[in-house]
Amino acid sequence: MVGIEKTLLRKVGEAIERFRMVREGDRVAVAVSGGKDSMAMLEALLLLQKRAPINFSVCAFTVEQGKFLRPIEPIGEYLKQRGVAWSLHRDNPSIRLIDEQPDHGCDLCSRYRRRAVYQIARGLGANVIAFGHTADDFCESLLRNALFTGRLSALPPIAWSRQKDFRLIRPLVFVPETVTRAYSEARKIPVIPCGCSQKTGTVRGSIRNLFADLEVEHPHLKETLLSAMGNIEPSRLLDTRYLNLEEAPEREPELFPMLA
Ligand code: SF4
Repeated sequence: MVGIEKTLLRKVGEAIERFRMVREGDRVAVAVSGGKDSMAMLEALLLLQKRAPINFSVCAFTVEQGKFLRPIEPIGEYLKQRGVAWSLHRDNPSIRLIDEQPDHGCDLCSRYRRRAVYQIARGLGANVIAFGHTADDFCESLLRNALFTGRLSALPPIAWSRQKDFRLIRPLVFVPETVTRAYSEARKIPVIPCGCSQKTGTVRGSIRNLFADLEVEHPHLKETLLSAMGNIEPSRLLDTRYLNLEEAPEREPELFPMLA
């Protein structure tokens, strides 16, 4: 337990520091999805709050969109015992969506959730909203966007809501799911699965399988991919916004690098 907690805190601390995610006086609302990742993130933020040289407060909330496979109450019980201010919000438009458009995709679902999340965070007096996307989510998102949408992008570790009233942070950017799983098991944190996690035949599932196959021989693949996301070379890509089409560079780039 001590080892896995140290790893979790080190990686969350690194993300918070590198991307200046949390600042003096912040009120951070943690979006608890019912899964192991957001619960581990909440625990990490509570532990770091005690050690941090700055003052910030933490609260938590869950949006009920009608997709939980079991009642969510055990999470409320657990968080009450931990002394965490947590609230559950039933989003009726999302629940109606399931009836009216049962085959709706993630775009619509996440748009409904975002609207609910902002409304809830405003009610909680928060200026920061923390989401539990992990290192796995960042890597999968990079591959999904590159292979299926023709964009080289993943997820923002830090961003602002359109009205600039919320800072949106993803403190688990460097934390793999192996860590959140081990941590939540060690702490016996209750987890309530979402129906979507059981879906098969999805693009996400294919990408997960691809990573799992490659990681048998290359266990640090995701760490390398995360490093790559922080070390881009735009002049070696095809986006003309980042290419010098007019002037000769001072130093000629290596035009014909060795092909592996
Ligand atoms: S995976 Fe399920 S819960 Fe998540 S955005 Fe898609 S439809 Fe919504």
